[in-house]
Amino acid sequence: MTNDRVFNFSAGPSVMPESVLERAAREMMNYNGSGMSVMEMSHRSKIYQGIFDETKVKLKAALSVPDTHEILFLQGGATLQFAQIPMNLICGKAADYAVTGNFAGKAAREAEKYGTVNVIYDSTSTGHDRIPAQSELKFSENPEYFYYCANNTVYGTEWQYTPHAPCPVVCDMSSDILSRSVDVSKYGMIYAGAQKNMAPAGLTVVIINKSLAGRELAYTPEIMSYKTMIEKDSMLNTPPCWCIYMLGLMLDWLEANGGVEGMAELRKERSAIVYDVLDNSSLFIPHAQRASRSEMNVTFRTLSAELDAEFVKGAASRGLVNLKGHKLTGGLRASLYNAMPIEGAIKLAEYMKEFEVSHV
Ligand SMILES: *Cc1c(COP(=O)(O)O)cnc(C)c1O
Repeated sequence: MTNDRVFNFSAGPSVMPESVLERAAREMMNYNGSGMSVMEMSHRSKIYQGIFDETKVKLKAALSVPDTHEILFLQGGATLQFAQIPMNLICGKAADYAVTGNFAGKAAREAEKYGTVNVIYDSTSTGHDRIPAQSELKFSENPEYFYYCANNTVYGTEWQYTPHAPCPVVCDMSSDILSRSVDVSKYGMIYAGAQKNMAPAGLTVVIINKSLAGRELAYTPEIMSYKTMIEKDSMLNTPPCWCIYMLGLMLDWLEANGGVEGMAELRKERSAIVYDVLDNSSLFIPHAQRASRSEMNVTFRTLSAELDAEFVKGAASRGLVNLKGHKLTGGLRASLYNAMPIEGAIKLAEYMKEFEVSHV
């Protein structure tokens, strides 16, 4: 690690691998002999089309995306999908939602504008500290789709299984995509804003079963139609060119580091280092129930808001930054995405132990 870099525990936009940033910097002024930056290229040029196609191929390989599914590179963040999903998939009828956190709740509320939303599970009453078991999911009659959020970035919980539903399953994987292997064939659609675990902000990846396209409500803007975007290979208009290129660099890094299986081992190791401190502490209190814990976002607090603030400040002075919890929860949060080195988790754990010794 270069000396002036910090360990950045931000929930998003978040840390990227140094080697990826260095490569982007090297290629910034003159990409592959073109005499220009990727930022300056026409999205219709042959050279850019090559970058686009390769990135898609790499993502398809990294997640073993079956041929039944199409990969789309869209914009508008995960939040636009909260509306785009019901516009395209609810058909004026009903869908089932599991509300296990902030973003799933927002998605459910947005979907109400386009059809009937059945919230079939809601963990609000326990502060979103858990994920339901399959047996707790009581689906309604004939939902068009079932929606859930794989990793709850704000509350630090994560689904440890892929739920079965009597309809297509739609999943927000913004904060854990590419961190473990998933069987894409089990999903009608997976989507993720890129800025947590994939690329800079500005790109949304959608992986959709092509059979679900073409059911959009009549007034759906063309740019929000999955069918149109599939037909145009995400180039109805200018795509987020540079972010897609950056995703390609990230995917090269991912492959060189063991792919999603390698990432799954790393996230386990990284989070265990921090959870181990939490589990043996008389000062820090973990938020999530043990069986529902996220390996991406570790949420916890001390006994008081004042101590939390002191912890954050002390951490920053050691180059451990962005440990403040989300404003909805307060407390503390360490986001441990793919690019967080193990050393970052070790440094955080050491600081937590020292902080505890000096504050009990
Ligand atoms: C960050 C996040 C969002 C919101 O993403 P935007 O790209 O800012 O719209 C939605 N869902 C999850 C799980 C997130 O982590």
